[in-house]
Amino acid sequence: MPANDTRVKNVLSFDVEDWPQSTLDFSLPLTPKVRDNTFRVLDLLANAGTRATFFLLGLAAQAFPDLVRRIRDDGHEVASHGHSHRPVYRMQPEEFRADLRRSIAFIENAAGVRVLGYRAPDFSIRSSDWWALEILAEEGLRYDSSLFPIAGPRYGIRAAFTLPFRVLPACGSEFIEFPLATFECLGIRLPAAGGGYFRISPYHASRAAIMRLNRRGGPATSYFHPYELDTQEIPRSPHAIPWRLRLSQGLMRSTVEGKLRRLLGEFAWGPARDWLEGRDALTGLTSCQWRPSASSCWCWRRSALGEAVSTRSSIPAAPPPTRYGAVSSPSTTGTRAIARWHYPCSCRRALEQRSS
Ligand SMILES: [Zn+2]
Repeated sequence: MPANDTRVKNVLSFDVEDWPQSTLDFSLPLTPKVRDNTFRVLDLLANAGTRATFFLLGLAAQAFPDLVRRIRDDGHEVASHGHSHRPVYRMQPEEFRADLRRSIAFIENAAGVRVLGYRAPDFSIRSSDWWALEILAEEGLRYDSSLFPIAGPRYGIRAAFTLPFRVLPACGSEFIEFPLATFECLGIRLPAAGGGYFRISPYHASRAAIMRLNRRGGPATSYFHPYELDTQEIPRSPHAIPWRLRLSQGLMRSTVEGKLRRLLGEFAWGPARDWLEGRDALTGLTSCQWRPSASSCWCWRRSALGEAVSTRSSIPAAPPPTRYGAVSSPSTTGTRAIARWHYPCSCRRALEQRSS
């Protein structure tokens, strides 16, 4: 990106995984296609002079450490996509922590640089899974990019902001959420700039979504998979693939590379870490503060850009016994500690009155 480029820099990201292992069966071994397809993406980015964030499965870093090093050497950011692609909502908090640590260990060992960010497999942090953000912050990560601000059947938090925002986790560290890019049409919020939606929809739909987010001063956070450039994977797969899956996962893969090239040429892109370094830009972007809770109480504030206010502040009759529900966390079991950290604004005052 030239120094005099005043365009908003969008977040370009790729989830590095092997399609059969991440979609059909978590117990399958990873195939060399992970490396081959990602190399293809790296070549494409090198030609475009663009850098990105690569959210790697720990399994991919374990099997192909040379791939991790090539990503790093090309100037891209390496981040975690979990270890084995199991959805977050199917894990207990401590299982999630172990899965995260494992993935980070393999990635950092191969890359020799610190991992700062995380993306949940299949965007599997839902409104009942705030605890996952707490754990990410406790493990020293600086950002997450798992929340999809849509009302989806399998994932999504419709109430989430559509531009990056701050999260104030219980451990008190600075933490940023990069929600995936969306597009609103007739009151319905739809995914844009990534995955199957990008494959199937016309180029102009993604373009319009990114332009709309950029007009509001913020970046669009995109997500792609290197395997989506592989048009022969599903037709030649040795696995029995149900026809619906064949259709939803394979349809129009041949259009991805061309559309991606156009996006790279038309917009400014960079890895998520660039936004962490440019903290002033983010401060100007959203002044909202959101403290996730262990149960049902959280607050949203209006952002500097006039993002719609979305408040859900039902105060539970009693504070949750621990931060993670069933998991014991002795240092924060006191009512006041929970109230101080977890309930901002009026919720916090009400709880403090109740406990005094
Ligand atoms: Zn994935």
